[in-house]
Amino acid sequence: EAKSRGRGVSVLFHPQLLRDLQERRELEMNLRVALERGEFEVWYQPLLDIASRRTVGYEALLRWNHPKRGIVEPSQFIPLAEEAGLIANIGEWALREALSEAATWHEELTIAVNVSPAQMRGEALLGQVVSALANSGVAPERLELEITETLLMEDCEMHLRTLHRLRALGVRIALDDFGTGYSSLNYLRRFPFDKLKVDRSFVSDIVEETESGAIVETVLNLARKFDMKTTAEGIESEAQLAKLNAMGCSQAQGFLFDRPLPPRMIPAAHRKAGGRMPRLQMA
Ligand code: C2E
Ligand code: MG
Ligand code: MG
Ligand code: MG
Repeated sequence: EAKSRGRGVSVLFHPQLLRDLQERRELEMNLRVALERGEFEVWYQPLLDIASRRTVGYEALLRWNHPKRGIVEPSQFIPLAEEAGLIANIGEWALREALSEAATWHEELTIAVNVSPAQMRGEALLGQVVSALANSGVAPERLELEITETLLMEDCEMHLRTLHRLRALGVRIALDDFGTGYSSLNYLRRFPFDKLKVDRSFVSDIVEETESGAIVETVLNLARKFDMKTTAEGIESEAQLAKLNAMGCSQAQGFLFDRPLPPRMIPAAHRKAGGRMPRLQMA
């Protein structure tokens, strides 16, 4: 009995903590069967070419359609899935789902898929990518894998090898949330990324804060020197967009254009129409 063991222990059994713990365990148990039950969905947020304001691709973002909670966002379950060792399976499912969706789109549109560090650690990712590409018929050049600096911090030769092999398939590699982790500059020397995604935290105060502006400008210059594309994420206002455009950022993503959309909301103009390719239209 907690109480009889003294004050320190009874704190552990504080009702709120106990409820949180129970909730986590319940969520984890649900997470284990969610895949079999088909509760996951992939939503898509457009990436736009800033100069033309045309949609050039979409980022696949995982959602959990929980029977009781409704739509659950990744921050609520991806860390849990990582801890429980479930992210590799969920990630593979998301990759397959995103590629089969992209197969129905206009062939100029790219598809970006997030890869968690746990997926990179095993040997399985390369095979999964090859097989998912083959099953969908999507050209490897249309697939962009987004990895984070957290992974690069592990400073592992195996990760570099995997990245080079993916690249050899024709797949593009983007460095996501750039600027929020460590050792990023050293990694730019060791691996030729196709794209840097400037983290939303820099974009959100780019208009007011000169520090963020200076950081973003430096990142964009760096990307140009290394011949990398750039996407600014989390753009919510025209003022932010104007500033990023003036600084030479190539692509934009954010609520200013669209939130992540369920696949049925993707505009018909972005899809194959009975085998006929419509011209890409303005977003
Ligand atoms: P991320 O890859 O950096 O994705 C961008 C996140 O920013 C998305 O959140 C998106 O909805 C949000 N966002 C985009 N534009 C705006 C904006 O203008 N304002 C604001 N406030 N937010 C914006 P989401 O969908 O909740 O995903 C969060 C994170 O979860 C992602 O960050 C990514 O790291 C992870 N994630 C999502 N799907 C997957 C997946 O399939 N696999 C893995 N491993 N991670 C995923
Ligand atoms: Mg991403
Ligand atoms: Mg990102
Ligand atoms: Mg981010």
